[in-house]
Amino acid sequence: MEDRTYTADAEPGDSVTVAGWVHEVRDLGGIAFLILRDSTGKIQVKFEKDEMDDDLVETGLGVHRESVVSVSGDVEEEDRAPTGVEIVPQSLEVISEADPELPLDPSGKVDAELSTRLDNRTLDLRKDEVKAVFEIRAEIQRAVRETFRTHDCTEINTPKIVATGTEGGTELFPITYFGEEAFMNQSPQLFKQLIAGSGVERVFEIGPIFRAEEHNTPRHLNEATSIDFEGAFCDHNDAMDVAEDVVVAAYEAVAENCEEQLEALDLAAEFEVPDADFPRISYEEAIERVNATGALDEQLVWGDDLSTEAEKALGDDVGGHYFVTDWPSEVKPFYIMDHEDDEQLSTGFDLMHPDLELVSGGQREHRYDQLIEGFEQQGLNPDEFEYYTKMFKYGMPPHAGWGMGAERLVMTILGLENIREAVLFPRDRQRLSP
Ligand code: ATP
Ligand code: MG
Repeated sequence: MEDRTYTADAEPGDSVTVAGWVHEVRDLGGIAFLILRDSTGKIQVKFEKDEMDDDLVETGLGVHRESVVSVSGDVEEEDRAPTGVEIVPQSLEVISEADPELPLDPSGKVDAELSTRLDNRTLDLRKDEVKAVFEIRAEIQRAVRETFRTHDCTEINTPKIVATGTEGGTELFPITYFGEEAFMNQSPQLFKQLIAGSGVERVFEIGPIFRAEEHNTPRHLNEATSIDFEGAFCDHNDAMDVAEDVVVAAYEAVAENCEEQLEALDLAAEFEVPDADFPRISYEEAIERVNATGALDEQLVWGDDLSTEAEKALGDDVGGHYFVTDWPSEVKPFYIMDHEDDEQLSTGFDLMHPDLELVSGGQREHRYDQLIEGFEQQGLNPDEFEYYTKMFKYGMPPHAGWGMGAERLVMTILGLENIREAVLFPRDRQRLSP
C-alpha cells in the first residue's frame, strides 16, 4: 500500500494512513474508540461524535471486529491512550469486512481448544502470544543458520521424495511416483552423508521429515522439521560440540532479540540461557542413575532403550540438558560406527532436554565392508541402497553428524506442552487439513 505507516511509527504531529485489523470498538457515548492492530502493534483512533462527520463516525463504529480497514488522520499525543498517541481520523475505509460471527476470539478473552485454533490458524495468529511463538521460531532458525556458518557449514537441500527410506520400516509414507512406489523421506541421513563425503565436507539442512508413526503424542508429528548436521573428519565428540553450540545459540538469540515476544508469552522474567558443556553421560551410567532413582517399576538392564519414564527420571536427576553416549550397538542404526576397541559399544549419542529427546547423532561407518555388514545385520538389503553404498568405495572420509527436531527445540525453549503449538499447520493422525 502506498504511503502506509505502521502503527508503531506513528508520531505526534504526523499525518498518516494506517491499515490493519479492527481489534476493538469501544463506544463511551459522546466519545468512542476504535483500536486498530497491525503487525507492529495497536493504535487508538478517536471519534468525537459531535465534532465529526456523521458518515465517518457511523462507518468507524459500525465496523465488525477483525475487519480490515485503513484510517487517515492526524496523530496526537494522548497520555490516556494505550500507546500514548491516538489518531484523529479524517477518513476511514473498510477494505474487507469480517463476519460478526468469529470461530474464535482473537482478543484471547475467550479460550479456544487447540483443534479449533488449528482449524482457524489465521485468526489464532492474531493473538500476540501465538504470533510470538512463530516469531521466536523464525529467530531460532536464523540463529541456527548463523551458528552453522561459524562452523564452516554449507546449507544444502536434499530430496524429500525417495526410492528407499533411510532405515526402512513401517515409519515410511508410501506414495505413487509415475506408477512406481516411492516414499516421503524420513530423514536426510543418507544424502547428507553423501555430500559430506564430497569435497563440501561440512553441511547442514533445515527441512521436512516424514514419519508414519501411528502413535499420537504431545512430542511427535507426522511431518516435522529436522535440523541436520554432517561433517567430514569429525568424530562423535566434535558432532556433540556442534549440537551444544547450536542449542545454546538458539537460547541466546531468543534472550537477546525476542524480549517483546517473551513478554507476550509471560516468560520474560524466568527465561534462562543454559550453560554450555552439557554433561556427557554414558549409557551405562544413565541406566544406573535411572535405576537408582527408583522411579521405574522394573530395573533397566543393558540393551534396553530408555523409555519415556526412564528419560523423565534421568532428566529430573540431571536437571538440565545432557548427552547420553556410548549406546549398545544393537540399539543404534547400522550407519553409526562402533567404538574401535569395543564392537558392542556404538559412538551414537542422544542430546536430551530434561523432558525429551532433542537430538540423535554419532560417528558414521565410513568403511565399505563394515557398512554392507551393518545393512545385513539390520535386515536391510544393501543392493537397494547401492546409490549410497557405492560412494563409500570412492574415498569416503570419516564423518559424524546429527539430526535435531526444530519443533522440539522451539517447544523446549518455550516450555510448550504440545509440539503442535510450535507448528503452523501440524500433521498428525487426525489432521491433514488445513
Ligand atoms: P523419538 O524416540 O523421540 O521418537 P527418534 O529417536 O525416533 O525420536 P530420530 O530418528 O533420532 O528420532 O530423529 C532425530 C530427531 O528428530 C529426534 O531427536 C527429534 O528431535 C526429531 N524427531 C524425530 N521424529 C520426530 C517426530 N515424529 N516428530 C517430531 N520430531 C521428531
Ligand atoms: Mg533418536
